[in-house]
Amino acid sequence: MKKTKWLFIVVLILTGIYVATVFIFPVKLDREQNKTKLLPPYKVSDKALALYNSLDFIADLHCDALLWSRDLTIKNSIGHMDFPRMQDANLALQAFTIVTKVPKGQNFSKNTGESFDMMTLMNFLQARPISNWFSLFERAVYQSQKLHKMAADYNDEFIVVKNANDLNRLITLRKENKHVVGGFLGLEGGHCLEGKIENLEKLYQEGVRMVGPTHFFDNELGGSAHGISKEGLSDFGHKVIQRMDELDMIIDLSHTSPAMIDDILAQTRRPVLVSHTGVRGTMDNPRNLSDEHVRQIAANGGLIGVAFFKGAVDTPLTKGIVDTMKYIKSIAGVKCIALGSDYDGSMTAPFDVTGLPLLVEELLNQGFKEDEIRAIMGENVKQFMLKNLPE
Ligand SMILES: [Zn+2]
Repeated sequence: MKKTKWLFIVVLILTGIYVATVFIFPVKLDREQNKTKLLPPYKVSDKALALYNSLDFIADLHCDALLWSRDLTIKNSIGHMDFPRMQDANLALQAFTIVTKVPKGQNFSKNTGESFDMMTLMNFLQARPISNWFSLFERAVYQSQKLHKMAADYNDEFIVVKNANDLNRLITLRKENKHVVGGFLGLEGGHCLEGKIENLEKLYQEGVRMVGPTHFFDNELGGSAHGISKEGLSDFGHKVIQRMDELDMIIDLSHTSPAMIDDILAQTRRPVLVSHTGVRGTMDNPRNLSDEHVRQIAANGGLIGVAFFKGAVDTPLTKGIVDTMKYIKSIAGVKCIALGSDYDGSMTAPFDVTGLPLLVEELLNQGFKEDEIRAIMGENVKQFMLKNLPE
């Protein structure tokens, strides 16, 4: 009897610790991981603000907001974005990318998938469903459904874009009401397919429309830019690309090895994008694209989303982002340039999403013309998506 009593007390204490941690840890981690250099409200010139306010379609190709416990339907004081801040920023379309595995000690040059997975710990401490603790696939399903649920809770003002029709609806609705915003789902790494092509189809059913084959480590699809093998596509990787082509899913080359970029460009006939990257021409490291790849992707009608963090671009960040865009323009033109912030991707951003007018100011300062700024801020993404999303 005494033993049972003690056991009960121990279980009670452990449950208490777990519940307390679940309330404290996710918020603390979110705050620490997703900082900004400058805090809102942001001050910009009248000229930049007038141009910014006249942009009718602003789009961004990458954010990891679904990774955190933050409710995106309310305005948060932490992290880089949420639906109300998207509306404040007049951001029409955001890619929501799904992260399912993060090896401990993650770096740009060499990681293995065998290191301890920080996402397992995080899913546990975020009190996500037990199915998420052990299955990368279930994590992807959960995050997809989370976006759909938040969209449903947002009074018709958030559209999950799954095809060109949805995007046209978003564009039409925004003519009457700028508060209608949208997002589409992408995967950051195909390891969550767990080696099964059926899982690609299942995630397509969940609304996923973009896939980056690898993240920080080599997986069943082939070599990561930050992995060990640096290999191209595996047999399974080729099959995934083939099925993606059949389903009109968008290929995201972020984090893939240069050999894999070559393999994919040789295999697919459709334009591809790189959702969040820098270029070696301004910042030479394995994270970033070579001149040759920039030219090839652009020549094929693709997009290059410029990321907002140190390593993709140089500091100071706002200047670094525009320096990168200027370099891409010099070798491949403006049509391929897009925003690929990587907001909420465990990085320090120059500003949160409501600070995007500062980017327009820097583009003006560095001599970009008005039509070029419109293209970079979202028009290029709009055209690409209308052409490349499923019907
Ligand atoms: Zn990434």
